[in-house]
Amino acid sequence: MYAMTVTIGPWRITGQHEIDSYVGRWVEQAVLLVNSLAVTTAHGRPTSPPRSGGQRLAAITAQLTAPVTLTAADADALAAVAVELHPMFGGVSHIHAVATQLNDLLTRYRAVPNLHGHPGRPPVLAFHRADATLVDAWVADMGTALAMVIGVGQSARLAVCQADKCSLVFFDTTRNASRRFCGLSCQNRAKASAYRARQAAR
Ligand SMILES: [Zn+2]
Repeated sequence: MYAMTVTIGPWRITGQHEIDSYVGRWVEQAVLLVNSLAVTTAHGRPTSPPRSGGQRLAAITAQLTAPVTLTAADADALAAVAVELHPMFGGVSHIHAVATQLNDLLTRYRAVPNLHGHPGRPPVLAFHRADATLVDAWVADMGTALAMVIGVGQSARLAVCQADKCSLVFFDTTRNASRRFCGLSCQNRAKASAYRARQAAR
């Protein structure tokens, strides 16, 4: 019998590897910044985001996989951005308001398509000017990546944990955009409270 092998790849944004990996990378960066600098409830408990530039800087650098030169003032600026980015997750029901806020952010941080080049290498597409400050460049790239996800009708993938007292965000790359929780602990907590609610209803 003839059998066809179907390979189900991970969810793709545009099908173009370069653009997909760009979007994935910068949406994940936005997730890290929001979760480490702007979230006030996590895993069922109140949590305090870092308040000083030094603490914010430590929270950011703890998440980075590659060394980057950031100052405490940069960290303060990124904390303000993280607060702005938070409502862009879980914003499906008010997506036009989200789009307006995101457009405003892209303008303020001077996002612009730009081919970065080095002699002898092919140009690479980025969304900030080559002479942008690090904060401007990060915000322009994160904002553009979020805009790409929203602009292809996938805003549901910019998600907030649905468990009680958890406002952690995540990028849902499951095939059907069906992920509801930030992680196993919240999933288990939500299951347990749903069970208790059913028992109480009886
Ligand atoms: Zn959670």
